[in-house]
Amino acid sequence: MWRSLTLRTPDNRMLVTSGTGDFALVDRLTADLILSGELSPAHTDYDTLYAQGFVRRPEDAGLRRLEAAITRTRKSFLLDGPSLHIFVVTLRCDHSCQYCQVSRAALDAQGYDMSLADAAAAVERVFESPARHLTIEFQGGEPALRFDLVREVVALAELRNEIEQRTLRFTMASTLHHLGPAELEFCRDHGIHLSTSIDGAAALHNAQRSHPSRQGFERTLEGLERARAVLGPDGVAALPTLTRRALADPVGLVDIYRSLGFNSLFLRPLSPYGFALKTRRALGYTMDEFLAFYERALDYILALNRAGEHFEETNASILLRHILTPFHSGYTDLRSPAAAGVGVLVYNYDGLVYPTDEARMAAETGDRRFALGPVTAPLDDLMASEAMRWLGTGAIAEVQPGCADCAFVPYCGADPVHHATTQGDPAAPRPGSEFCDKHLGLFHILFRHLAEGDPETMRSFTSWALRRGRSEIADPRGLRQ
Ligand code: SF4
Repeated sequence: MWRSLTLRTPDNRMLVTSGTGDFALVDRLTADLILSGELSPAHTDYDTLYAQGFVRRPEDAGLRRLEAAITRTRKSFLLDGPSLHIFVVTLRCDHSCQYCQVSRAALDAQGYDMSLADAAAAVERVFESPARHLTIEFQGGEPALRFDLVREVVALAELRNEIEQRTLRFTMASTLHHLGPAELEFCRDHGIHLSTSIDGAAALHNAQRSHPSRQGFERTLEGLERARAVLGPDGVAALPTLTRRALADPVGLVDIYRSLGFNSLFLRPLSPYGFALKTRRALGYTMDEFLAFYERALDYILALNRAGEHFEETNASILLRHILTPFHSGYTDLRSPAAAGVGVLVYNYDGLVYPTDEARMAAETGDRRFALGPVTAPLDDLMASEAMRWLGTGAIAEVQPGCADCAFVPYCGADPVHHATTQGDPAAPRPGSEFCDKHLGLFHILFRHLAEGDPETMRSFTSWALRRGRSEIADPRGLRQ
């Protein structure tokens, strides 16, 4: 099946995509000929378009097997079962970030820590998943406040894995403030990868991520230094939460990350979950404002790459991997079928299991429709829950209203939790939703660059998509196009 749309390029170039994700950038007449199956061998681009699968000949029946193999590769995550298991070991935190009203509790609050029995049951659920590769992610609140529980979960999982022999990986999202030498050595010895939040320069970070010391930024930087000394220079990843204030200075934000020794930045708009409306009005922005910011940041990052510095924008890397290669990025927020429950499970501090982090945040605002059941229930029961059946109605992008005809659908995904929270229905029409507006905008920006075909941009895009260094990309034009 081929789909087409007009790109936002000066010459209104048409994008035609196939179900397997091949694409052609052509004029309107050629697009019409492809879609009607009337492209003749006399057409200048006939051979190229035939090689890309945009022309069918009677003798090509065998190609179906090849297309099936490509689809299997792109959707290989489906065969795995849940591979990302998020443990919310505590909701307590000593920060009170402006944008995090519902996913934290006060430092001395009672009843916001996971019990050891629930943590042990969660480890059982992890290994009930058939996935060969398992990631256990510790989240909060501030998970380092319950590092004792982190140690317990790691010990239980490692013990179990002596029999299971899966590839087991640990990650932890932390402010880094509470990780001293002993905790960091434990992280090093058990391969726990850390990620932290850095919202921008000190003034912006400290204003947004309020900490009693008023020195949250400085303390995170001290933690970063401590962690790198033990875990190595790549031992900590960081990402910003983008508020309206951050959008004013894309170059400054990229430069802060460069000055701190990072070589990538993940630019995502503010999540719509768990906000009081008043806060959202104060911190939020329209998707058009985000996309304008994104474009300026990406242009700056591409200029850095052109000058020889490898620096990546992670959102672009994820989408380009889907566009330029037959492989999926692994990013759980952009899968079809959706990862909710099928690829990700969240074990909340209160003993309930949720299909995504956003779903458990929605639960904190009183929306309990997403709970799959108690952590003590077997995985099969959680998968057969009412919530999973409900979310399943919106889990496949290729059949959703709006997506079914969208030329970007081979690279996009489905997020039924988002549509259930924001539109009341997991299968609500996508066009006009924040999820769709964001991805539509990002795809248009990336395809505009692909249509322009600047060799240095193509080299950067290819290196990001293939996860290789720029110098390893001999001829970026060889990919897909
Ligand atoms: S969510 Fe929007 S951009 Fe993505 S496939 Fe659906 S219609 Fe296209």
